[in-house]
Amino acid sequence: AKEQASSSYQFYSRKMNERFHKRMELENHLRKAIENEELRLLYQPVVDSYTGQIVGLESLLRWHNPHLGHVPPSDFIPVAEETGLILEIGEWVLKEACKQNKIWQVAGLPKMFISVNLSSRQFNDSRLSRTIQQILEETELLPQYLELEITESMTMDVRVALDTLYELKKLGVQIAMDDFGTGYSSLGYLKDYPIDKMKIDQSFIKGLQHNQVNAAIVNTMIAMAHNLGLQVVAEGVETEEELHLLKDYGCGLLQGYYFSPPTDVERIVELITP
Ligand code: C2E
Ligand code: CA
Ligand code: CA
Ligand code: CA
Repeated sequence: AKEQASSSYQFYSRKMNERFHKRMELENHLRKAIENEELRLLYQPVVDSYTGQIVGLESLLRWHNPHLGHVPPSDFIPVAEETGLILEIGEWVLKEACKQNKIWQVAGLPKMFISVNLSSRQFNDSRLSRTIQQILEETELLPQYLELEITESMTMDVRVALDTLYELKKLGVQIAMDDFGTGYSSLGYLKDYPIDKMKIDQSFIKGLQHNQVNAAIVNTMIAMAHNLGLQVVAEGVETEEELHLLKDYGCGLLQGYYFSPPTDVERIVELITP
């Protein structure tokens, strides 16, 4: 038994060592990802539920490293957050997304908003609104075509969040509350936040037609958002059944694999060309 305990200890400590090493490796590669041009954005359509038209695109970050291969955002975003690298990466994302949207507009494609996910490090950075203003000036994208996605967890400190949100709204950009329903803080404050949109988290949408509880929650969230004057996006729409129910509930905007997965620039042009 003693031997067993000791070997399982060695096993765990080796595992922890490996994990630590992996994490260091990832961090080191991530530091050079921008200058080595390993990052790119995919875009996922947001669709008007009545017309079926694409009205916006969410930018989603992808990282391909020659040594690590494709690393999913769920693996590298937390590391970027912890190390502060997310500030530089986030700025790259904002610039890239605005630049791309401007290119599509100049090409004469139908105008749509581009949304960018903010991390809490960015949201709490005092330079955020100045950075965004500079990017908008540089890319000559009108602010109404940029949308920022924040999450409930960023607005735990209500006073700070309100100040930041008002500063951002002054720029003229749109603000969306992402992953709505998964946080706990801000239901009561939702009415005070100057936000434009609510994105219902995909966990509520999956199998909606078989889940009466989720159906009731989604129906209520949509009604509440409308009462607050917010637009609603349902995320993670994968099936026709989900689509029909969401339309019944009056959900104006839809996003998910049913319409399109996150997609590269070339293919997006085909999708948005009328
Ligand atoms: P998110 O902002 O909630 O993005 C939606 C995620 O759901 C994306 O995963 C997308 O590919 C996936 N998705 C879209 N439609 C469907 C569907 O119908 N079914 C299912 N099962 N999934 C769907 P992805 O691209 O892996 O991104 C994961 C998360 O990483 C994002 O969640 C966001 O929190 C974060 N992220 C991605 N790009 C950025 C970025 O540029 N900056 C920051 N700060 N975070 C980012
Ligand atoms: Ca998002
Ligand atoms: Ca989301
Ligand atoms: Ca998320």
